[in-house]
Amino acid sequence: MGIRTGAQYIEALKSRKPEIWLNGKIVENVLDEPYFKQPAQEIAKLYDMQHDPEYQDDLTVMCEETGERMATSFLMPHNYDDIMKRSKAFEVVARQTFGLMGRTPDFLNTVVTSLAQNSWFLRKYNEDWATNIENYYKHLRDNDIFLTHAIVNPQNDRSKNSHEQADKFTHLGVVEERPEGIIVRGAKMLATLAALTDEVIVYSFPGFAPGDERYALAFAVPVDVKGLKIICREPVQDGTRSTFDHPLASRYEEMDALLVFEDVLVPWDKVFLYNNVEAANLLYPMTGIAEQPAHQSGVRGYIKLKFAVEVACKVADSIGADQYLHVQQDLGELIQNTEVIRSLLRTAEHEYTITEYGEARLNPIVLETIRGMMPDMYPRTIEVMQKIGAGGLLMMPTEADFLSEELRPTIDRHYGGRAGIDAEARMKIFKLAWDLCGEAFGMRALQYERYYTGDPIRKRAIFYNKYKKDNALDLADAILMKEDTVKEPQIN
Ligand SMILES: Cc1cc2nc3c(=O)[nH]c(=O)nc-3n(C[C@H](O)[C@H](O)[C@H](O)COP(=O)(O)OP(=O)(O)OC[C@H]3O[C@@H](n4cnc5c(N)ncnc54)[C@H](O)[C@@H]3O)c2cc1C
Repeated sequence: MGIRTGAQYIEALKSRKPEIWLNGKIVENVLDEPYFKQPAQEIAKLYDMQHDPEYQDDLTVMCEETGERMATSFLMPHNYDDIMKRSKAFEVVARQTFGLMGRTPDFLNTVVTSLAQNSWFLRKYNEDWATNIENYYKHLRDNDIFLTHAIVNPQNDRSKNSHEQADKFTHLGVVEERPEGIIVRGAKMLATLAALTDEVIVYSFPGFAPGDERYALAFAVPVDVKGLKIICREPVQDGTRSTFDHPLASRYEEMDALLVFEDVLVPWDKVFLYNNVEAANLLYPMTGIAEQPAHQSGVRGYIKLKFAVEVACKVADSIGADQYLHVQQDLGELIQNTEVIRSLLRTAEHEYTITEYGEARLNPIVLETIRGMMPDMYPRTIEVMQKIGAGGLLMMPTEADFLSEELRPTIDRHYGGRAGIDAEARMKIFKLAWDLCGEAFGMRALQYERYYTGDPIRKRAIFYNKYKKDNALDLADAILMKEDTVKEPQIN
């Protein structure tokens, strides 16, 4: 089939009946729910953009194997040109949603592409696992499937491993093997956009210990597979608020969900890893599924940071507050932060290496530096926005107030900004800012930057330990090696 249109994506959504729970009720049809309707349209737009002459050459490439167009995120990178093609595609998608939707289809396309390009690793353990991931990649690519993923165990007791939890099946594990596949039971979080996707892929961060064998697995199933419950978190918007009052929350809500597998059958041909603690612990370091998606996340995060910084600048400018030195200093810092991330991205892309299997990978130290800095830079941007907007972020009339003929002249008099910024223009800017720095939508977007790819504290600690192991501290050693020893005390 090749690339899908938005209409084909929506048709696929309509054709499925996953068990989605929202606010204590089963959702019969996601497209009838105001919470999901607009975000589904935003995803559909991305599929339509693949057919738009303005974006098609960025978002798609010809697949050599099928002779059809495929999403650029399915391109296996072999050289710098491939890296930059993917980079451009990630940026086009990110700009469309201002970086606020982190789990657009390109994210998991990149993960599965990376797994398939590194199927040699799975083949070392089991020929079938490698064949399965290669076939799954083709299935996603050729049908333009939208995937969600669930890799983290629920926070039942973080001081214990999976097999030590009070209930053997709170964490997702294998119950039994059958001729047709494995039966899995338990939960995984935090599957973003699960309700609006076609299929889910499950795998895990490293950290398995002996005894965890039943939990050491990777597989994929459709979201409407029998026995899968999708339990959504509380929505951050009600789906009916006006786009004037909530320009972002009303459009870009990415609903997250807990996935509960109640004896789900996973056919053998969709099992990518099973019952092997060593393979599960090496999946991340050996297959590039940290680095390749980090390229998408880095580009997307850069656009989101840049967007938030521009909103902060607009807030300051709209009320003339950027005439003050400390405001200029704060905004200058934010702009420099975006330049740091942009420069790091270009460095990571430029300093690529080719693995012995022919895969082009960005500089992992630089990518991880981006990942380490964003959980500080993004919240800092939000903090500056809150401080500059101050009380004005709360003192805002609604769209309904604007529509009142009686109230409108008063609003126009009292809510305007500096010369040239009328009340409507100023309120549009402040409402944008409030969605980012005050609303639940914005707080989720902030939490996303901290945690979307793991705990930033442990990630930075792992980074330090690896850096120390791989890099001689030779500059420091150079001076230490010089013969500046303590002199004998001088006795006169
Ligand atoms: C908005 C959002 C969207 C997300 N989307 C997805 C998604 O689509 N798919 C997906 O799979 N995941 C997703 N993630 C989940 C993400 O992978 C996890 O949130 C992340 O890995 C952190 O795990 P946790 O939330 O369970 O925190 P925990 O790991 O439970 O950490 C909680 C606290 O305990 C500390 N801690 C816990 N365990 C240890 C330990 N062993 N050693 C030291 N300190 C420890 C941490 O430092 C932290 O302070 C998303 C997260 C967010 C916030």
